[in-house]
Amino acid sequence: MALSVLSYIDVRPSEHRVSDMERKARMINPGFGKVFSEHMVTVRHTEHGGWERGLLQPYGPLMLDPASSVLHYGQAIFEGFKAYSQPDGGVKTFRPFANAQRFNHSAERLAMPQLPEEIFVEAADALIREDKAWVPTAIGESLYLRPLMIATEAALGVRPSHEYLFILFASPAGAYFSGGVKPVTVWISEDYVRAAPGGTGFAKCAGNYAASLVAQKQAKAKGCDQVVWLDAVHRTNVEEMGGMNIFFVYKEGGRSVVVTPELTGTLLPGITRRSILELASELGLGAEERKITVDEWKAALMEGRMTEAFACGTAAVITPIGRVKSMQGDWTVNGGETGPIAAKLRDTLLNIQHGLVPDTHGWMHEVC
Ligand SMILES: *Cc1c(COP(=O)(O)O)cnc(C)c1O
Repeated sequence: MALSVLSYIDVRPSEHRVSDMERKARMINPGFGKVFSEHMVTVRHTEHGGWERGLLQPYGPLMLDPASSVLHYGQAIFEGFKAYSQPDGGVKTFRPFANAQRFNHSAERLAMPQLPEEIFVEAADALIREDKAWVPTAIGESLYLRPLMIATEAALGVRPSHEYLFILFASPAGAYFSGGVKPVTVWISEDYVRAAPGGTGFAKCAGNYAASLVAQKQAKAKGCDQVVWLDAVHRTNVEEMGGMNIFFVYKEGGRSVVVTPELTGTLLPGITRRSILELASELGLGAEERKITVDEWKAALMEGRMTEAFACGTAAVITPIGRVKSMQGDWTVNGGETGPIAAKLRDTLLNIQHGLVPDTHGWMHEVC
């Protein structure tokens, strides 16, 4: 068996590889998060030994003690980032160290151990090298990386676990929206909140998602695609859309300004959000982080000061918002169409990610 040794990870690839034909068949229309590549990386952490050497091994089910504390008290965090095929046939990931950093902020909030950023990134690099054939090549397609950490100690006492498991696996992802980008209709939730001050809103923890599903279900029942979250205290400030950050485009003195809610601790600090703010000025756009109320959203549209709204995140990059429904009535943004700023930002990000324009920010990490 081939065994290669990296700094932190032993590589023991599968002896039964999927045939080229089978892999190509599985990758024809992968959608999102339904097809998985052939390997995964696991790294254990114990109270006394710290992080052990990791292992790259065939993708497959885990063995978990039913008393594992993650199953009871929910110490579980995750990340999401992507590897993109490059014009020279290589593969690069987008800002993986930013994800490693955020992973540790989430870990800290959930009383979980810090994972050295080098282990996080080496795990991804090793997996991508082994499963390079699973990186799709078309523009908008990518290999989605899903790192996570769970509490694995078999103990029912309520306290931080003494054992953890870091897992990383990968999933080829098609262009998120087949048939082009389609603006979504959103429901502004006044019944449920995603995050409250002092809570876990800034952490990418599994529990935030568990608590959001009923609101997402309500949005569907109202004929909407996604839920828009308001702040928990006043129920007036717009915070996020589903699992994505939100932007508004204003027209101010002849130029466009992208405005996004400021990070208050209840919002998830998205890396796509940060990238858009960093890109804005070179595209001739203003950029602001501040509070935006639902009333302002509606008024700014009516007065013609707001031209677009969109959401952003790793999975779908940029999703325009075309229609809004709420207890206060319904309204349309940009005639329900994708606006030029959303389209421009989306193309710019995708071009950087696929290596079609120079990476002047040092965002791309070369893997193989
Ligand atoms: C992951 C996530 C985002 C987007 O973050 P990116 O780093 O841009 O992918 C936004 N909101 C929530 C709630 C999230 O979980």
